[in-house]
Amino acid sequence: MSMVRRAWAGRRRGLRRVLLIALAVAVTGCAQGRTVVPVRMQPAASLPSPIIPDLSSYEATVRTIAGVITRDIGLPLPDTVMVYVYSSREVFEQGLVADGQVSRMRAAELSDFAIGVGKRRQLLLHHERNVASTEWVRLVAHELAHVSQIEMAEGEGRAEQWLAEGMAEWVSFRVLERLGVDTVARRRCLAIATIRDHAPILARRLDLETLGTSPGFTARHLREGSQATYQMSYLLADYLIAREGFGSLVEYFRSFARRADRRANFQTAFGQPLREFEQEAVVHLAKFRQ
Ligand SMILES: [Zn+2]
Repeated sequence: MSMVRRAWAGRRRGLRRVLLIALAVAVTGCAQGRTVVPVRMQPAASLPSPIIPDLSSYEATVRTIAGVITRDIGLPLPDTVMVYVYSSREVFEQGLVADGQVSRMRAAELSDFAIGVGKRRQLLLHHERNVASTEWVRLVAHELAHVSQIEMAEGEGRAEQWLAEGMAEWVSFRVLERLGVDTVARRRCLAIATIRDHAPILARRLDLETLGTSPGFTARHLREGSQATYQMSYLLADYLIAREGFGSLVEYFRSFARRADRRANFQTAFGQPLREFEQEAVVHLAKFRQ
């Protein structure tokens, strides 16, 4: 987006030349620590079965993970995802503003702790030398799940944030298992170990209302521990998926394209108000302490 705008601003200096430069940078590569790779998604029906993993480059890794997400998990993704890779925290912060249209204040906050952000048809990521590493595959899968959620809801930040994060983790663990680098069972055990002494679970007060908004979720994970907050969200999503099926989660995200009502959409998709689910979830999570 910003590259195109800059190109149009250069009309007087020669439109054709500026467009060519903009295209060259956008397609191939690299300027001041910022790499841009447009990744075209293959339609799920045209993918080989099983998907042949290729984790040799940014583009190949994103396409492989996208293939698992669309074909094996059944989530929609846009035809093209722009992948932005930044070489440092500072460049990442600038990219969040210029490429991701994030406010300066939110970009400063995000760049302090985030290593990747999934936006509408965009992935904004820190540079990683080893794009086949388990952690990078998990990160890309997690952020692509957000891209899918945004596509289904036709907008960002509409659904419960804890459920968006929990589902993104759930998808990423499935991708890791499918690519043979980890197992869902091991990740679930790690999640349980991580949340055992998590303060909201000990206090039996999750306060999902606060965790449901993006600023509330950020404040809580910075205060109470990022790992535990994300893994608690994963276990809640995992519980809902086991109870209602993955399709109900897909329908939940799709419902935001028709109606931007968090409470009503939750109740319609899962058959109970959020408050009632929270009481059930407290009991479910307390079991992991035994
Ligand atoms: Zn996330």
